Amino acid sequence: MKTIGLIGGMSWESSAEYYKLINEGVHQALGGVHSAKSVMVSVDFAEVETLQKSGRWDEATQMMTSAARQVEAAGANFLLICTNTMHKMADEVQGAVHIPLIHIADAAAAAVLEKGIHTVGLLGTRFTMQGDFYKRRLADKFGLKVYTPIASDQDIVHKVIYDELVVGKILPASRDAYQKIILNLADQGAEGIILGCTEIGLLVKQSDCSLPLFDTTLIHAHAAVQYALKD
Ligand code: GLU
Repeated sequence: MKTIGLIGGMSWESSAEYYKLINEGVHQALGGVHSAKSVMVSVDFAEVETLQKSGRWDEATQMMTSAARQVEAAGANFLLICTNTMHKMADEVQGAVHIPLIHIADAAAAAVLEKGIHTVGLLGTRFTMQGDFYKRRLADKFGLKVYTPIASDQDIVHKVIYDELVVGKILPASRDAYQKIILNLADQGAEGIILGCTEIGLLVKQSDCSLPLFDTTLIHAHAAVQYALKD
């Protein structure tokens, strides 16, 4: 079994999910008392948020590349960045280490295509919904058509992530708001929804929604288990 490397803390609420999911996945596959071999370097999300908010992306990139090197030095055989947003600097992170990075958008796109879906709605932080790094990868590498919410809906999605989900607040009113936003994306033509923020799955479950949901935390953790167990 390979050792899974994780850059976590963005936020720890979702990193805890990753940790649980990789261990459950390895236990399910191997049985007995098996669990995942892993190392995690977990950052202080307050520092990350400050850099994001003030657009200091070079410093954020340095933080991510140095965390990646720490993960590699601790013995990981491959690497996951446990957030969608910080895949903004995925190329730099991959360039900083010798171990492979499993890109969260690649894992998500593969899951979408496996379901025969080619048009998706994307929910995430404003950085993920508005930037090119995620949408363009889905479109150019996988041929997906990607819809994002209208501006006022993006504001709601972003605010709920930073004010509530990263500090473990799960509010029914926010779930209702997300459900409406998902319906709006369906009206635009989305056949499925990528939950492109690793905390959204804590708020919205498949049972809350008739459209297929692609929860990037579940998908990314599953991809890690598969890769860890591959010869
Ligand atoms: N976990 C979130 C994501 O998947 C947001 C936190 C962050 O900005 O890294 O994008």
